[in-house]
Amino acid sequence: MSASIPKILAPRLLPLDLDHRLKLVREFIPGRIVFTTSFGIEDQFVTHSIFTQGLDIDVVTIDTGRLFPETYELWEETEARYARRIRAAYPQAKPLEELVEEQGVNGFYKSVEARKACCHVRKVEPLGRLLHGVSGWITGLRADQSTARADVPMIAFDANYRTIKINPVLDYSREAIVAATEEFSIPVNKLHAKGFLSIGCAPCTRAIEPGEDERAGRWWWEQDDKKECGLHVGEDGVLRRGPAPKEPEAFQ
Ligand code: SF4
Repeated sequence: MSASIPKILAPRLLPLDLDHRLKLVREFIPGRIVFTTSFGIEDQFVTHSIFTQGLDIDVVTIDTGRLFPETYELWEETEARYARRIRAAYPQAKPLEELVEEQGVNGFYKSVEARKACCHVRKVEPLGRLLHGVSGWITGLRADQSTARADVPMIAFDANYRTIKINPVLDYSREAIVAATEEFSIPVNKLHAKGFLSIGCAPCTRAIEPGEDERAGRWWWEQDDKKECGLHVGEDGVLRRGPAPKEPEAFQ
């Protein structure tokens, strides 16, 4: 597979709507493509498009073991609505047992390092397994969710996971997505109506105040304005904004 695909597809994707973007991605990129959902409103919009178009794209998730009850309810409701299973990856038992033994059951509050260690065991490592060997990785990232996501590209080669990463709702506003979920009766998390705009693990997510970044409720006790869990971050610890500087062998 050629890493020139992002360059070719980027200008063709931009003028399209979500349905046509996903269709083009599926037609253009051979091999397995996965969409990783955390059941946020953007993810539900993308899931709806994949399932209603019958696209050959696997919708998968990561069950960290610390999700809100409302998220599990939505997961079940979504599977029932579209009659499709959403496969999950789980943290590995031994590293998780060692993590909890070392830092305690809520040890992630103690320091940024402890929180990142928890995110690594519960999210980043399972994501690596979900993305192993895939040709394309679709996400529900939006540029205006936070300042850290403002200049992320719609499609780029991801050197960390050695795959093409596509963010097909990158330029959608939250309002446009809310309107679409209402128009098509797409199930959404009940917590959105309670001020939780970005929903992750229960102990690490709070509702936000008007005017705050959508992701301000994530790890709210930390001061850094570029808070990410590591899923979309490069080896240098920075949110991946552009194509990899060097094309890995597998894609030459
Ligand atoms: S969001 Fe919180 S509970 Fe979830 S993996 Fe990260 S630190 Fe752990």
